Amino acid sequence: MIHRHLESSAAGRSKTLPVDKCVYFSMWKSLNGKPRQVSCVLKIYTGGGFSEMLPPRNPRAAYRREAIAARRSGSGSCDCGESRPEALIPGSESPICYACDRRRNVRRLTDAHHIAGRSNSPIMILVPVNDHRSELSKAQYDWPKKTLQNPDRSPLLTGAAHLRGFADLMVYLLKSFLLWVADMLELLDTILEQKLGRKWWKNTKLKTFEPKSKSDA
Ligand SMILES: [Zn+2]
Repeated sequence: MIHRHLESSAAGRSKTLPVDKCVYFSMWKSLNGKPRQVSCVLKIYTGGGFSEMLPPRNPRAAYRREAIAARRSGSGSCDCGESRPEALIPGSESPICYACDRRRNVRRLTDAHHIAGRSNSPIMILVPVNDHRSELSKAQYDWPKKTLQNPDRSPLLTGAAHLRGFADLMVYLLKSFLLWVADMLELLDTILEQKLGRKWWKNTKLKTFEPKSKSDA
């Protein structure tokens, strides 16, 4: 049994998953050749929330929203591993996320997200439904209400909404596009070190990527 817990990143949460749901398992198995691993810990970046990268504007309101979402959806997680309260359907007999529910009903798994809010811009992007509910929409709830709703169509508030929407999107992309690669590289480094020994890269072409020492500078 192998049990890995990656702590290198500031964002995301770790969760123990069956190996058939772990993206690292096949890589580990091919390197080790022995199917003795029964579980591993997978870093789920979507399991966090923007509060882990950017502090909420209004911590009290953010706490209240999270508590309400958790109360509505109950505790636990979907069979797929999804555990963010906002991504779980409230009142379900057993926890199920929006994505699994839509998959079961052969419905689209993505939502259109208004980057600057519906009142400020018609520009939308498609994002996975669970991420839309628990990341991007959740982040917008933390905006000043007047900016998000912009009832008088103020050009200044529209500008503010574009800035906020772009910042939220960048944080989302950093988490979902980039940070998992760092975790995967760190896990692979550990696996190769265990298999081939320390400084395993010395006799490979990867040596050219070795960071320069002070004496080389
Ligand atoms: Zn699910």
